[in-house]
Amino acid sequence: MLRTIQAAARCKTATNCVGICRKPRRAVRFPSMNILLTNDDGVYAPGLAALYQELTALGDVHVVAPLTEQSGVAHSITFLSPLVVRKIFNGPGEVSWGVEGSPADCVKLGLFECCPVRPDLVVSGINGGLNAGINVLYSGTVAAAIEGAFFGITSMAVSLEYDEHADFPTAAKIARRVLEQVLPRTEGPQLYNLNIPTVALNGPREIHVTPMGLARYGEHFIKRQDPKGRDYYWATTDPPPSTEDADTDLAALERGHITLTPLEFDLTKRDLLGTMKDWRLEI
Ligand code: MN
Repeated sequence: MLRTIQAAARCKTATNCVGICRKPRRAVRFPSMNILLTNDDGVYAPGLAALYQELTALGDVHVVAPLTEQSGVAHSITFLSPLVVRKIFNGPGEVSWGVEGSPADCVKLGLFECCPVRPDLVVSGINGGLNAGINVLYSGTVAAAIEGAFFGITSMAVSLEYDEHADFPTAAKIARRVLEQVLPRTEGPQLYNLNIPTVALNGPREIHVTPMGLARYGEHFIKRQDPKGRDYYWATTDPPPSTEDADTDLAALERGHITLTPLEFDLTKRDLLGTMKDWRLEI
C-alpha cells in the first residue's frame, strides 16, 4: 500500500540548513510502514500520544513503552528480574503495551513479541527535554532508537525542549515532516537524533544537520538533610556553556534551530586502533 505525502521545498538560507519546510512543493509516493513507537517518559506521556497521532499518517503504529518514567536510564536492560508486560487499552494506540522495564527492553520485546510484523521504523519520543550533546549517552529516549538500529532498523529519537506547557502536537507535526523528508533519502538502516527547541514551535523554523556537541553541561549537586538527619544529594544540571564552535547540536539549539544528528553506536576509536596494532603488546 502506498500513501501520498508532501515533500517540502529545500531551504537555501544557510549552508548547513536542510529546510524550513513549511510549504509543500510536490507530492511523492511513500510506502506505508510498520512503526514501533516507544519512549522513556512512559506509556502515558503526552509526547508519546502526540507522536502516535502523527505517525499514523505514515503507517501502522505499534506502541511498546515503559509503564513508568525511565528518563536517564540510558541503554540499561532487564535480565535479573521478569519483564512484566501489560496491555494498555487507554494508551495512545487502540492497544498499547506497557512494559515494566527500560526503553531498550521495550524495543527488544516489541520486535520479538508485541509487534505483529517486523517494524520498518523505530521512533522514540517525544521526550520532554532535549537530548543533545553528551546527554545523548545518558538518554533512555536515544537508547531505544539505538536498540532499533542494533537490529538493522532505521530509528529516530525525537526530543522537545523541556517546558511545563510543552506543545507536543506541534513538535510531533515537525517530527513527521522531518521523517517524510529523511526516510526517502535514507540508504540502509540509519540512526537519527532529532531535537526541537521551544522557540522553533511558533517562530521561524530551520532544521540544521549537526554533529553532537561534546561540551559538558553545568552539573552540580544540591546537598540537603532528610528528616532523620542524613545527608542526601540531588543531581541537577544547567544548560551547557555557550561555545564558539557553531557546528554542534548544542550551538544550533541555542540559536533556536531544530537539529538532526546522524549517530552510530560503534564506539571503537579507529585511528588509535590502527596505531595500537603496532604496539606489539606481550604478556
Ligand atoms: Mn525522558
